[in-house]
Amino acid sequence: MLKDKTAIVTGSTSGIGLGIAEALAAAGANVMLNGLGDPDEIEATRARIEQASGRRILYHGANMLKPEEIAALVEDTESDLGPVDILVNNAGIQHVCPVDEFPVDKWDAMIAINLSAVFHSIRTAVPGMKARGWGRIVNIASAHALIASPFKSAYIATKHAVAGLTKTVALEVAEHGTTVNAICPGYVLTPLVANQIPDTARARGITEEEVKRDVLLAAQPTKKFVTVEQVADFTVFLCSDAAASITGAVLPIDGGWTAH
Ligand code: NAD
Repeated sequence: MLKDKTAIVTGSTSGIGLGIAEALAAAGANVMLNGLGDPDEIEATRARIEQASGRRILYHGANMLKPEEIAALVEDTESDLGPVDILVNNAGIQHVCPVDEFPVDKWDAMIAINLSAVFHSIRTAVPGMKARGWGRIVNIASAHALIASPFKSAYIATKHAVAGLTKTVALEVAEHGTTVNAICPGYVLTPLVANQIPDTARARGITEEEVKRDVLLAAQPTKKFVTVEQVADFTVFLCSDAAASITGAVLPIDGGWTAH
């Protein structure tokens, strides 16, 4: 379906991003991986996806804290893999803490990685998409782009902002065959969620099991975590020609959470 398209997936060494990279490759795209992690493990992941898909899979180590490295991610992909047709902004971090105790450095890092990095990759990739008259930008936001929960002030501020950025850019590129959408997953049991369970337990004064049952899955009427594969397949669909009329949309995939 996406044969010979070139895709970048930021933060694809783990969790949702890794699943999206695998699904895009399986759909025929050549993929530039990105993210933090152990170099040997990243190389093993890269080789595994390349082997399984038969597509070209490369890795770029751009740090999403650094605007010039994000621009280089797009530019190096264009020279090493091909013009960037698909940009999936997925890299993200979380920190759970009451607002009056929220560490300023964590606030700044979250703005940089969850929000500003999305701007920097988009501003670098959009000229090529406009020139070629085809592009797909998928921003992995969150159900927390639509609603709030306590103790996640920075995360929720950035995800709401990503929703606004998504709509704005969609309007700017709509006549250039390029769509821009935000996917808003509910809870997916990735390292990002697993790591926040102890902090949420501390902040709320409950056990980790109670966090899973009474905080995370309590939010989702299905009582099930959303899976990485579901988010990945949704992303592939948004990149297809069938989704050409879906743009500027902020789309929940959250087991009914935001229907409350
Ligand atoms: P994860 O921790 O498994 O993966 C995060 C990825 O981002 C990793 O590849 C990591 O290396 C990368 N990353 C972090 N900081 C980086 C930096 N400075 N530079 C480059 N890469 C960096 O988390 P996940 O749950 O897969 O989250 C992926 C995205 O999905 C995030 O934007 C997150 O907010 C969003 N999301 C997750 C959930 C969930 O329940 N897991 C729900 C809604 C939205």
